[in-house]
Order: sequence, then structure tokens, then C-alpha cells
Amino acid sequence: MTHGIHSQTDIGKMREENQDSMATRVLADDFSLLVVADGMGGYAGGSVASSLVTSTMLSELDRVAVEVFRESPQLYLRAAILAANAAVNREAREKHELRDMGSTVVASVVIGDHAYVAHVGDSRAYLLREGVIRQITEDHTVVQDLVRAGYVSPEDAVYHPSSGILTRCLGQMDMPDPVFAEVIQLLPGDRILLCSDGLSGMLEDDEIAEVVFHETAGDATAILVGMANEAGGFDNITVVLFAYGDLPEGARSWPLVVGTPLYRESLSIQPIDEPTTPFKFATRDKAKLHDTMTLSTAGREERADQERMAWLWPILIGLAIISIGLFVWYFVGTGS
Ligand code: CA
Repeated sequence: MTHGIHSQTDIGKMREENQDSMATRVLADDFSLLVVADGMGGYAGGSVASSLVTSTMLSELDRVAVEVFRESPQLYLRAAILAANAAVNREAREKHELRDMGSTVVASVVIGDHAYVAHVGDSRAYLLREGVIRQITEDHTVVQDLVRAGYVSPEDAVYHPSSGILTRCLGQMDMPDPVFAEVIQLLPGDRILLCSDGLSGMLEDDEIAEVVFHETAGDATAILVGMANEAGGFDNITVVLFAYGDLPEGARSWPLVVGTPLYRESLSIQPIDEPTTPFKFATRDKAKLHDTMTLSTAGREERADQERMAWLWPILIGLAIISIGLFVWYFVGTGS
């Protein structure tokens, strides 16, 4: 099966620096690694963090024989992501000006007709198959936790003040064990797309699908970056597109569908407890620029508590108004 890897990164329209990094490497005809990392943390810190992540992911490949990775790609992904986390932490400890840096990572190993995906943070992986786009990672953000817990609707998540706050990232917190998506058994014409939030925050899923299914894989990445810039280019934009075989004849007539259940024929090594709830901007015009930042675990719980307590305020304010009314009526009203 022929395949191609196409990638593009762009500073966007609003940032002074591109703090995204990406890496792709073909180890054999049927064996590839794809990585996207989105750095954050002060001037220059973000780009140091994200490039440390991609370079560590690559160097970890060289530490063990390719045959070993073929046997256990998930073991490699986990070890490499943990090594990347350690590298970012080490550099942040040693250089004061880089102490706040961190990075997301989304990485995929494709071996033969299987794709393994792991991630930390809000950089995403999508599977595009036969006119259907499906997000296969779930963002590690405060708002996604609130959506999952039922405190915030997916529609409101877009406007939530914490929509840019990560609950997990490399270099900022305790061991962020990577989360694995379901293993994908690839079919001819499938595309795996990795991206930073500079793409997924600017374009609707169906807009991404429209381009990927209707353009050659080679053209699609540039077109997607162009569209994200046209929509405002609020953040750095990075896309890596893995094309498994050519799009079959008739691809243009596929109806586009967003977010249907993951294909059941996929192998499931690490089962996912519940279906993911992708959230995105309701409309592109309403998209807001959120600086990505991280929150400690304690802060996250505190924030979740605040969300839980939010309903109490109208009641407390109502009680206060009634109390003041009674006070005035009793002391002022009866005194006159
Ligand atoms: Ca970003």
C-alpha cells in the first residue's frame, strides 16, 4: 500500500513566534513516526519545549532496535513521551528563564496497516475515512473535563473562560502519562491528521474533512493552513497528514459526516471508558483567542468546585435581598 506524509507549520497571523514543532520520520516502507508538539511558556520557552519534545521523540527511536519498536509501538510511544517530559523538565529546572515552559504532544506510529496514537494536552489526532471525520483524541483541558462531567454543555464549552487551560502537559506537572487512542486498523484511502489547536480551534471538523477528502494529500496541508489563517490565524498552525493509499474513485461524492462512532473493526488494546465528546467553536466568527496555559491538579479541582458551587450564588443573593427587605420593613417601616 502506498502512503505519503505531508506536513506544514505556520506562525499564524497573531503570534510573534511559531512555538509549534513537528517531526516525521519514515523508518521503513511500512513504518513511520509522526509528532506534533505545541509549546507554551513565555518568550522563547514554548519553542524550546516543543522542539525538545520532537527531538526527544526522534532520538528515543535510535536507542532501541527498530524491530523492538515494531513489536511494541505503544511501549515506544509511552517511553518516548515520558523521556520528552523529563527533557523539558530538566531544561526548565536548569534555565530560570525557561522555568514556565511546557508542551503538548500528539504522536502516531504507523506500522503496516495499524496506527497507534498517544497524546498529552490539546493537540489532536483525527481519523478521516470514507467521508467521515472523527477526533480520536480527547483534549486534556479543564473545559473538556467539565463537559465530560456534565457541568458544561459542548456548545457552552466554546465560550468557557477555561477553554484554553490544559489539565495535562509535558514539563509542567507530575508525570503526565500519555493517553492512548484506540488502535486504528487502516483501510485504503484513510487519513490520519495530527494538528495543533491553531488548526482545530479555527476550523470546523467538516471544513477539515472537506479539504482532506477533496484535495490531494500533498495540497491539503497547505490549503488547511491557508484556511486557518483566513479564519483569523489566532495561533500557530501545524498539520501533519498521513495518507494511507490513494483516495479511491468516487471520493468526491462521499457525504461528509462529523463525529460518528469509531470504527468497530479497529483493534482495541486500551479500551476507552466512554465515548469522546468533541467540542469546538460553534462558529468560526465566534472563535476566541485563548492563551494556552496549564493548571495544577489542585487548581483544577478548585475550579471544578467553583463550577459546582456556581448555582448557589443566585440563591444567596436572593436570600440577602429578602433579609434586607424584611429588616427595612420591620425597623424602618414599623418605627415611623
Ligand atoms: Ca497553540
